[in-house]
Amino acid sequence: SVECRNIRLAYGKTEVLKDINLVIEPGEFFALLGPSGSGKSTLLRLIAGFNQQNSGQLLVDGADISHVPPHKRNIGMVFQSYALWPHMSVWDNVAFGLVERRLPKAEIQEKVQSALELVGLEAFATRRPNELSGGQQQRVALARTIVIEPQVLLLDEPLSNLDQKLRVQMRQELLALQRRLGITTIFVTHDQEEAMTTADRMAVMDQGIVQQVGTPANLFDYPCNRFVANFVGTMN
Ligand code: ATP
Ligand code: MG
Repeated sequence: SVECRNIRLAYGKTEVLKDINLVIEPGEFFALLGPSGSGKSTLLRLIAGFNQQNSGQLLVDGADISHVPPHKRNIGMVFQSYALWPHMSVWDNVAFGLVERRLPKAEIQEKVQSALELVGLEAFATRRPNELSGGQQQRVALARTIVIEPQVLLLDEPLSNLDQKLRVQMRQELLALQRRLGITTIFVTHDQEEAMTTADRMAVMDQGIVQQVGTPANLFDYPCNRFVANFVGTMN
């Protein structure tokens, strides 16, 4: 589980996260939905350890990791720009985190192979990122993150670079993969349809405040205020 308790974060005098309280259950596919500038990426980066809160606590599986540095948190994050190494093959991109962790060669072989199989890219291992489609690059970014077997998977608009058709396809693949791995996942999007059709539960954020948390059906049927009603209600 991931638990945010009274989390506040300000950049200078600007409060970007205001008293965030959230509990994401083990194995949940949880969507964080909100307009641009509402604080979604800031919260994700905070969970990964790249941002430090001014106050409040962050617990993962019951342990307070508020002051644990990012490389010691067992959390995987896929950024909006996949940031693959352009000069490295698909295989080396996926192996990178394991090489960094100095795992034995045979173990790296095995883990990279199974991660590539999971995302259906076994046949592309020797390609460079610029020889892949957007969807394939997205899969490499995902494989690179799941190969380290994180406790928690954070996805910051991982599908936003893809065209609509591929986006819908990848969305289903992502969900299927998450179900197979059973990994607690927080998925950021500003696309209400994407959140509504994939999430177990979701939080709607606005101006650094979690406006409402619940199942998609719950928020759709019983929005707690006009903002949530407008934001969730406009299905396209
Ligand atoms: P988007 O949907 O556009 O990605 P977001 O919900 O992810 O938006 P954040 O990136 O979390 O929004 O930004 C929240 C607010 O914090 C914005 O007003 C942004 O301008 C501000 N902000 C983000 N990073 C910094 C920074 N390093 N310094 C100062 N302000 C920042
Ligand atoms: Mg963002």
